[in-house]
Amino acid sequence: MAKADYYELLGVGRDASAEELKKAYRKLAVKYHPDKNPGDASAEAKFKEISEAYDVLKDAEKRSAYDRFGHAAFQGAGAGAARGAAGGVDPFDVFREVFGGGRGGGIFDEFFGGASGGSTGQEGSDLRYDLEISLEEAAEGVEKEIRYRRAVVCDHCDGSGAEPGSRRVKCPTCGGSGQVTSSRGFISFRQVCPTCHGSGVVIENKCKKCGGEGRVEETSKLKVKIPAGVDTGSRLRSAGKGEAGVQGAPSGDLYIVLHVKEHDIFERHGDDLFCEIPIKFTLATLGGTLNVPTLFGKASLKIPSGTQSGTVFRLRGHGMPRLRGGNKGDQLVKVIIDVPKKLNSEQRTKLEEFAEVSGDPANPMGDSFFEKAKRFFKE
Ligand SMILES: [Zn+2]
Ligand SMILES: [Zn+2]
Repeated sequence: MAKADYYELLGVGRDASAEELKKAYRKLAVKYHPDKNPGDASAEAKFKEISEAYDVLKDAEKRSAYDRFGHAAFQGAGAGAARGAAGGVDPFDVFREVFGGGRGGGIFDEFFGGASGGSTGQEGSDLRYDLEISLEEAAEGVEKEIRYRRAVVCDHCDGSGAEPGSRRVKCPTCGGSGQVTSSRGFISFRQVCPTCHGSGVVIENKCKKCGGEGRVEETSKLKVKIPAGVDTGSRLRSAGKGEAGVQGAPSGDLYIVLHVKEHDIFERHGDDLFCEIPIKFTLATLGGTLNVPTLFGKASLKIPSGTQSGTVFRLRGHGMPRLRGGNKGDQLVKVIIDVPKKLNSEQRTKLEEFAEVSGDPANPMGDSFFEKAKRFFKE
């Protein structure tokens, strides 16, 4: 049995707003809820159908896929399924996370605010780098070299912040204990020494190159291995490639956030790729084989005779590779019948002959529609 149209199920137009969809769904859900219709299997089936319809239409991405490809958009296993962590990609951890949108206008901004963990705040910050790649690169995997500014360990003092040969001496503020006592009213409490940050020692002569920070700014180069299957929002983490910490404290990490450019032929939905291909009406009518482009070369697609405009074909395994390995998603091809805009005289004569033998001039409507509608044409 053919699946009912999602819009019809919810009783809304194809241009319904999110608000209208929600209203329509609520109303029907209340009506057909199993709690309200105990033992009524048809109500339960209906409830499932409208829930499924609403599930798709409330999601803008799924809705646009459904508008374009109908139910065929969701017939593949795991279409649009969420993927989790995938490890073992040297030297990056890959995980998929979609940001709340609008984050990070600049190519380079700090990732999570200040340093994590340490109470002294001396650890290096995490950095974020936004990297744009093509859909082909996302499909095949690619190695890119990126350049970015960051604080690195000072090579003059090896990160210690002390001029070579100079000593570390007891902190004059806390006398080496790393803690100071302050009092407020009758209460006194101990806190980390603000001068030595708890280490109890300070540098006698600060490094001339870094001024005692133990780190300096420079442009770093990094080769980034991008695994096949990444999507916009995928992040690669390179441990320790963020900002160096102060005076030898641990470095932060670098996060590379990927953005996959739009493609002129393919539209991506999860692991599936969609494309629309116009075909000649003769191929659609007579049937034949069509060579279609895929991201990995061409594939041949059988077009059965009598194919209608808007039919969607599924090419299994020609979609995006899955990040966690295994097989690829599918490619969906929607064929649109191309009606010739110009005919030469020979083509025109042949088509007129065709129309005549088909009896078309008398009945220019499709046969099954004409059958239903002919009562309107009776005298
Ligand atoms: Zn230095
Ligand atoms: Zn101190």
